Amino acid sequence: MKAAYFYDTGDIRVEETSVPQAAPDELVIKMKASAICGTDLRIFKFGHFKIPAGERRVLGHEIAGEVVQVGTQVENFKVGMRVALPPNVGCGSCAMCRKGFTQLCPTYEAFGISYDGGFQEYIRVPGNAVRRGNVVPVPEGISWEEAAMVEPFSCAYHSYKALNIRPGDSVVVIGAGPIGACHVLMSRLAGASRVIVADVQDSRLAGMKALGADAVINSATTDLRTAVMAETGGEGASVVITACSVPEVQAVAMEIAATHGRINLFGGMPKGKEIVPLNTNLIHYKELTVLGTTGSSINDYCESMALVAAGRLSLLPLATARFTIDEINDAFRYALSGEGMKALVVEG
Ligand SMILES: [Zn+2]
Ligand SMILES: [Zn+2]
Repeated sequence: MKAAYFYDTGDIRVEETSVPQAAPDELVIKMKASAICGTDLRIFKFGHFKIPAGERRVLGHEIAGEVVQVGTQVENFKVGMRVALPPNVGCGSCAMCRKGFTQLCPTYEAFGISYDGGFQEYIRVPGNAVRRGNVVPVPEGISWEEAAMVEPFSCAYHSYKALNIRPGDSVVVIGAGPIGACHVLMSRLAGASRVIVADVQDSRLAGMKALGADAVINSATTDLRTAVMAETGGEGASVVITACSVPEVQAVAMEIAATHGRINLFGGMPKGKEIVPLNTNLIHYKELTVLGTTGSSINDYCESMALVAAGRLSLLPLATARFTIDEINDAFRYALSGEGMKALVVEG
């Protein structure tokens, strides 16, 4: 079978390797669709502390596929089942895992990071992942591509729950990438009265309008503070989501938030840029709530899958390009260009 191995920064090679054989407690999945995530791009550019130098890894953690092998001890799974793999596998016994927040487990393992992930024909699902709920059935009616994209959406869903977005809210999403798009879809679904997206790339902003944003702001050519005040009747936004990794944006978020505004610092900062000067008086005098979310739990993932299955939203408009495993380097180039939304690797 074919597998795309990440060897080092900027170095992914498609190689021939043998199809994994399921151990008694494992599954093997035939990959049908795996989407490229910002995390994959970061690993491609900068590496990852869980991939030691000299090791190779198949990246990709937004995965949907069909069960083709079931270990002799595995119950509840059958050959032919359609499944998707929430990527973060918790240790199962720490305080966070016990509360169901496997994405916050200090010793988590993950597909595409510490386990070989989605950019290969067949994926071994380790026993821990099978036992801890990381194999989720995909209901009929959800395509492989849409099932793969439930993972990024579930991170926006997790954010929505923390922010408690509700009717009457004006939401500003800063960053019009695929994750920004998920925040737009989720905010609309939550009943936000107005959804405004800011970015520096016009092509991406046009895409946000198509997904249902009420207004878009090019913050390279327009002053974001003035524009948000104009869009919110001078009050500022009741919710601000920073869906990018630009430090200054976190400071601006405090300025454009309304009194009693809620801010989610959703995008993490690059190494060395984590210390951001903020006007904390804005938090004090406007009584802002500033919070953070990262990833999603298996519960968030399953609830997101159910929302998609119920037809409450469609993730398909996010898929703007498809590639085979052989074309993995084209897929990464496309995703890095920022021109489209999601690049998907699909079975050849
Ligand atoms: Zn992802
Ligand atoms: Zn744990």
